[in-house]
Amino acid sequence: MSYLTLKALNKEFGDFQALQDIELSIERGEFIALLGPSGCGKSTLLRIIAGLESATSGKMSVEGRDVTALAPSQRGISMVFQSYALFPHLSVKENILFGLKARRVEAKERQRRLDEALELVSLQDQQDKLPSQLSGGQRQRVALARAIVSQHPICLMDEPLSNLDAKLRAEMRSELRNLQKKLGLTLIYVTHDQIEAMSMADRIVLLNQGRIQQVGTPRTLYNQPKNTFTARFIGSPAMNIFTLPEYHNLLGVRPEHIRLSDSGIRCRAVNTDYHGENTLLKVALPDEQQIVVKVDRYQQFETDQPLHVNWEQQDLHHFCSAKQQAIPTP
Ligand code: ATP
Repeated sequence: MSYLTLKALNKEFGDFQALQDIELSIERGEFIALLGPSGCGKSTLLRIIAGLESATSGKMSVEGRDVTALAPSQRGISMVFQSYALFPHLSVKENILFGLKARRVEAKERQRRLDEALELVSLQDQQDKLPSQLSGGQRQRVALARAIVSQHPICLMDEPLSNLDAKLRAEMRSELRNLQKKLGLTLIYVTHDQIEAMSMADRIVLLNQGRIQQVGTPRTLYNQPKNTFTARFIGSPAMNIFTLPEYHNLLGVRPEHIRLSDSGIRCRAVNTDYHGENTLLKVALPDEQQIVVKVDRYQQFETDQPLHVNWEQQDLHHFCSAKQQAIPTP
């Protein structure tokens, strides 16, 4: 039996269907990323799991117990928001302990959990400061510590790293991942950043327009996308999707799997985009469809320079043109 289960879940806002037929099973201790473009329904789904929003129909259960009708405080779930939601007039320590005081956890136990959480997030020296005296990353860790002391087995996070600069974000990704594993938390993490989801999650739930597109490990979504949406959303730069006269289907090849060669498909250089460790070369096929090729380091090409591209058969994906669904390689 799965730990947390969502069954036939739907959410409507008036005429607008924000979530449709959501079916999801999550195991204890899993790190799940809810990923998708802006407006796809990620936050709505997270809020329904938290109990902050009610579903129009469907059920949610935890360890086999139906929790659909339970209030947020009865679900054993903690939540970390993008804004951290810290009280500005309370110190770090008071912010972390706020929920425990409200739940009347006794003083000795509060202190024990506080010390443990402060050590985990390396904030022992900052406990008497106010949130305004902390950096963004430190505030983020206070919000995390608050979730940790609650000792709820399920933790929900809504884009918790989005306010941080790129360097701190990369550091926090691995810290968060280590912490989650160490505490054995079941973590459901909303992000629109596929790199974040790929690098942190055990499994990704990819959503588009309120529907689950695919659920799987980062490697499965990258290697075996079930449809063109997943194929384009996972991986950067996006997978090229195009047609060739000798095939009936849509074809997909990732830029990193295409190589320039002496023979193969004729094309011409359109432009290049230099990225440091590689160059993204845009080429036009004979019928003017454009595809992107990732080439090593810095390489220059003349506009309209004749070239050939090639790829391994195993790196070619096939999609049905009508439904945009993957079809097994012939
Ligand atoms: P983002 O990444 O931009 O935060 P999201 O994937 O989290 O997006 P949601 O916030 O879940 O998206 O919203 C999903 C859709 O539901 C959006 O089209 C949004 O406009 C709509 N929506 C969300 N809340 C409400 C509401 N209270 N009333 C009406 N429509 C809503």
